[in-house]
Amino acid sequence: AKPIVAIIGRPNVGKSTFFNYLAGKRISIVEDTPGVTRDRIYTEVEWRGRKFTLIDTGGIEPYAQDKIMLEMRNQAEIAIETADVIVFLVDLKDGVTPSDKEVASMLRKTKKPVILAVNKVDNIGEPPAEIYEFYNLGLGEFIAVSSIHGLGMGDLLDEIHKNF
Ligand code: GDP
Ligand code: MG
Repeated sequence: AKPIVAIIGRPNVGKSTFFNYLAGKRISIVEDTPGVTRDRIYTEVEWRGRKFTLIDTGGIEPYAQDKIMLEMRNQAEIAIETADVIVFLVDLKDGVTPSDKEVASMLRKTKKPVILAVNKVDNIGEPPAEIYEFYNLGLGEFIAVSSIHGLGMGDLLDEIHKNF
């Protein structure tokens, strides 16, 4: 079976943009089928001749502000259960938020490989010093990406592959 890669992250960090970039097309919210697939969107990605299934666990957004923490835990649980590799997307412009910290602490407990990707690094050659704040999540090294411009995606895909 193809490996499963799950993207998790707060609303607005750029998960859909990231997903659509890798899907090579805009995949709007598919069907609101009741049940387990309700909040998940799938696509197949091929990189260097290998295929994997990419899941956007935050398929249906936005959530009410007071539900974010709950939804984040939910996403993390789905990813920890079902994914072979987890991509935790955070947002350079927002910095580290309380729900990012919460998710990071859940992810530190799993044996599944976790890749921390800092999105919205549009000036990837010279990222601002604030990017170093993400080391505070305790997940180690991160990969800088700009989903909107498709920057850093090759490095990220290579890192994903290393974990299959
Ligand atoms: P989601 O809620 O996590 O799925 O986030 P979206 O993909 O809907 O993106 C939220 C907002 O961030 C949109 O306005 C995107 O255009 C913007 N965005 C996404 N990726 C980037 C990026 O790499 N750079 C910048 N500057 N904006 C981005
Ligand atoms: Mg989205």
